[in-house]
Amino acid sequence: MTDVLVIGGGLAGWRAAEAAVRRGASVALVANGAGNSPDIHALNVPVRADDSVELFIDDTLRSGRGACDPKLVEVLCRESVKLAAEFPFDRNPDGSYKLLQPLGCSVPRCVSIDHKIGAWALAKIKRELAGRVEVKRARVERIDFSQARAVVIATGGWCGRYEFSDNPPELRGDGIDMAVALGAATRDMDAVQYEPTVALAPAKLRGIPVITTMLYEGATFRNKDGAEFLPDKHANKDAISRAILAEVAAGRGVDGGVWFDATGVPKTLLETVYVDTLRRYAAAGVDITREPMLVAPAPHTSLGGLVIDAQCRVLRADGSPVPGLFAAGEVAGGIHGLNRIGGNAGTEVLVFGRIAGESAASEALARRGEI
Ligand SMILES: Cc1cc2nc3c(=O)[nH]c(=O)nc-3n(C[C@H](O)[C@H](O)[C@H](O)COP(=O)(O)OP(=O)(O)OC[C@H]3O[C@@H](n4cnc5c(N)ncnc54)[C@H](O)[C@@H]3O)c2cc1C
Repeated sequence: MTDVLVIGGGLAGWRAAEAAVRRGASVALVANGAGNSPDIHALNVPVRADDSVELFIDDTLRSGRGACDPKLVEVLCRESVKLAAEFPFDRNPDGSYKLLQPLGCSVPRCVSIDHKIGAWALAKIKRELAGRVEVKRARVERIDFSQARAVVIATGGWCGRYEFSDNPPELRGDGIDMAVALGAATRDMDAVQYEPTVALAPAKLRGIPVITTMLYEGATFRNKDGAEFLPDKHANKDAISRAILAEVAAGRGVDGGVWFDATGVPKTLLETVYVDTLRRYAAAGVDITREPMLVAPAPHTSLGGLVIDAQCRVLRADGSPVPGLFAAGEVAGGIHGLNRIGGNAGTEVLVFGRIAGESAASEALARRGEI
């Protein structure tokens, strides 16, 4: 018997474990893989002088095309500000934050730590919790409250079900099935975000995405004739994916994809900000300072999922909570609506993972006498 059982070993899960331990709960965490969180490059925090929580909220709601839960968006954006005090995000020599501008953000808002905030945060939390959380590697198929007073579902999304995707295959949406079996409601289950720029070739890079912020730095899309075809390079990811697929459907694609040409991005940026991409392609025999990359849109993030409230309680269709059940991260719906802004998932897992852990710990501690 544990106070809080966390299912999922991504950032939402580890962040929940961290928060529950801090509240004094005993915690066990079960996961069958690392999930997508180690790949989080950057996340959104409104730290620039001309940015604000209100602008962040506006961008997120607009991007979600009317399908966001405004209460969850408000929590995401307001709580994000605290992350700047908690994490040593990278700064320029003049002290200003190093920022990237993701598609859908009005201003540069993406912060990071050495371009690897996901892996960095996971390592930090695991280090700090060493020996304080019981960790097990297994695939959970059913939730059993005889072994835990509260459960946090943090099993990520379901894009691993697709044949061509940039997600690992263990991300199958299991957490949604388990919660639905306990009466949970879901929302927007047809909403999946495609990453426009996932490598089709060379074979060893197939399924690995190329970061779209390069579009702000001079990268372009080209069809099989070498012609540029994207009128608005700063469109949201869904519009870009549709434009690519339209080009392919019109017979102007290359093996089902198009060229993503970063030769217009200043070499100094490719060698610093985008050095991981540069090195990855170089190791596969492609020099991206001189040659384009062959890419196609692929399922990247599931946007729908479990219905939660601002305390991360999992809700039934009538709005009542499923007792003892909490969820955070990609398994939950309502935050990104029909289109997620790049960088908002990283913010989501840190903000809502913590809330889920705190809520689960509070409920578990209150139930200690009962169970
Ligand atoms: C390549 C890539 C790059 C990305 N880059 C960014 C970025 O730069 N910024 C950003 O904001 N977002 C980014 N995203 C999105 C972001 O990574 C995810 O939305 C986020 O990591 C989800 O975190 P999570 O903790 O909810 O789930 P995950 O990190 O995916 O973790 C899910 C966990 O649940 C486990 N699990 C699943 N089913 C079971 C089961 N039945 N039993 C036990 N365990 C189970 C998995 O093994 C895993 O441990 C990126 C996504 C991809 C694919």
